[in-house]
Amino acid sequence: MRNSKIEWTDHTANYWWGCAKVSAGCANCYADTWAARFGKDIWGVNADRELKKGVWKNVKKWDADARKRVVRERMFVQSMSDFFEDHDKIHGVRESAKRQIESLTNIDVQLLTKRPENIAKFAPEWIDNWPQHIWIGTSVEDQDAADKRIPELLSIPAKVRFLSMEPLLGYVDLSEYLWYSWQPCCGGHAGCGCAGAYMHDPSEEISQVIVGGESGHGARPMQKEWVEDLQRQCQEAHVNFFFKQWGAYNEHGELVGKKNSGRKLNGAFYNEIPKPIYSSSSSPKVESEIPF
Ligand code: SF4
Repeated sequence: MRNSKIEWTDHTANYWWGCAKVSAGCANCYADTWAARFGKDIWGVNADRELKKGVWKNVKKWDADARKRVVRERMFVQSMSDFFEDHDKIHGVRESAKRQIESLTNIDVQLLTKRPENIAKFAPEWIDNWPQHIWIGTSVEDQDAADKRIPELLSIPAKVRFLSMEPLLGYVDLSEYLWYSWQPCCGGHAGCGCAGAYMHDPSEEISQVIVGGESGHGARPMQKEWVEDLQRQCQEAHVNFFFKQWGAYNEHGELVGKKNSGRKLNGAFYNEIPKPIYSSSSSPKVESEIPF
């Protein structure tokens, strides 16, 4: 059963807490604020990381439960850290976590990172044979982040790639990336007769764009035009668009708080999610060497 409050997933699993800030999107990191509230000193390059014990049992139970009900569910891994951070304390636990998430049969795993340049380094065994139920995403808060991180994401051979544009801090032109997988059907051959028809290659695409404004203390406003433009870009490129929230400021730029600002864009909800690669009963069982 669903236990996450995050709109685009069903479960949230954290194998450890703690991280270090890397870009403008991290400035008001809610995970840092949340950890500080508990008096934990786990933020920063040299700080410790806190490994979590209960997560292993929970993840196993959620998968078994979904299998029993013959449904597919989604699980966001690491809302309180970054799965691909380069930190001595987490190398071992990340290996075990990889073994557990690749063995899941009825859960699609949503791995989101601000460090896509580390994916191949820390998951080299997946590069030639990427587990199809593991979705890979990167965070994009502005054009700089888009231009730095999306090419890294597109180099990863996952079946489902997504962008989390939250907090959205500026106008972002995604055209270069959303149209990456569209090519003339013939490669431009004069005798084809396709009249320039474009073919879409799903193996090279971005499957979903999630957009949201910032909430909490010191939140920065998100302009409605930025969101409308992203929705238009996604619609034109046939990419799933998910509008998560306005955040602390509403669509008129008024500071009203997250609960009051809602998550409608021009009166409509946008909840588009990629279709799972596997059906609820078709995913192959991967035997894990670790008895979770
Ligand atoms: S990468 Fe994510 S978890 Fe880490 S500091 Fe930035 S926002 Fe927080």
